[in-house]
Amino acid sequence: MEARPTSAPSGSHPDWPTRRIVILGSTGSIGTQTLDVVRRLAGRVEVVGIAAHRNADMLLAQAEEFDVPHVCLAEPEAAHGLASASPARMVYVGQDGMNQLAELPEADTVVVAVAGAIGIAPTHAAIRSGKRIALASKEVLVAAGESTMQMARSHGVDIVPIDSEHSALFQCIHGNPSAHIESLILTASGGPFRDFDLEQMRAVGPDDALRHPTWNMGGLVTINSATLMNKGLEVIEARWLFDVPSDRIEVIIHPQSIVHSLVRFRDGSVLAQMGLPDMRLPIQYALLYPDRIDTALPRLELSACAPLTFAEPDTQRFPALRLARDAIAAGGTMPAVMNGANEVAVARFLERDLPFLGIMKTVEAVMSRHSPVEPSLPNVMAADSWAREQARRS
Ligand code: MG
Repeated sequence: MEARPTSAPSGSHPDWPTRRIVILGSTGSIGTQTLDVVRRLAGRVEVVGIAAHRNADMLLAQAEEFDVPHVCLAEPEAAHGLASASPARMVYVGQDGMNQLAELPEADTVVVAVAGAIGIAPTHAAIRSGKRIALASKEVLVAAGESTMQMARSHGVDIVPIDSEHSALFQCIHGNPSAHIESLILTASGGPFRDFDLEQMRAVGPDDALRHPTWNMGGLVTINSATLMNKGLEVIEARWLFDVPSDRIEVIIHPQSIVHSLVRFRDGSVLAQMGLPDMRLPIQYALLYPDRIDTALPRLELSACAPLTFAEPDTQRFPALRLARDAIAAGGTMPAVMNGANEVAVARFLERDLPFLGIMKTVEAVMSRHSPVEPSLPNVMAADSWAREQARRS
């Protein structure tokens, strides 16, 4: 059993204000871990709105435990009965409902943790109403990175990443102007097949891939970790989040997942952020930034995790890194197409409709048929649907 704080966390400033947050995707992996962080913060963070895809029972249980006044389900059918089951709450439905939640005047921070391009519009709505964004959804930066960051800059809004690697980079960069940065170094666990040769990779099935050594994640993220597409997407996210060109973003295989990422500065100095593989730390950092307080999260014991190893990734066996760099170079809607095609190809692999190496072949084939256009939100959504349709048939 871990120690749990029983009163207000120690180390916090006495006048430290309560944060009021909305969680988009509250029933998913990041959403439930965010609520665990809220529990540990013992009254320092108030949850004013939660949105989920279709899990009405879990959403209601969360609303009751955290006394949440505003609740939303994206799927209209699932929202039937929500209002009668919960007469004291405001119930919102669909994409419009998520946008309204993102704009709630009583909220100061919006945690974006929904799966898919559906997260882009509410993120933009939250930025326009001046909220801090605690960002977990990859699609927001992969498919709409440039416009999202421009919007955040013009509204003076912080986008604080929840992804462990980007949180690490954010923490290392903290206070340094971008002119001081030489390169960003993203670490990758390498997934379960990092030491397989091509012959072995041909024989891999869903069960082999779903046994991931370090992080406990959903099916899509686990397969993306095994193909390194997860890291490809993270290169694109980092490119926009930190405004660093992709040729200055490196990837290094680090199977222990203790060093979460590193920044090399102009003078050659390299800063790393380290921690246990526990998403609650980057989540707490994103909610409280720039504050740091003790919520009794497990501590990193350096002698227990040695040795730490680092190796170059092999883009022959893991073409996802090359495809991600191609997508950035092509620009426009190409990253959205890569992401949409990948999600469908992964689903087909999990249904045993594609071999493991067929995932990236499918993504590459769909990308080769796409002529990128300007990445406005309607164009991004159209490119995403087109890519999914193409990947279903390739
Ligand atoms: Mg990550």
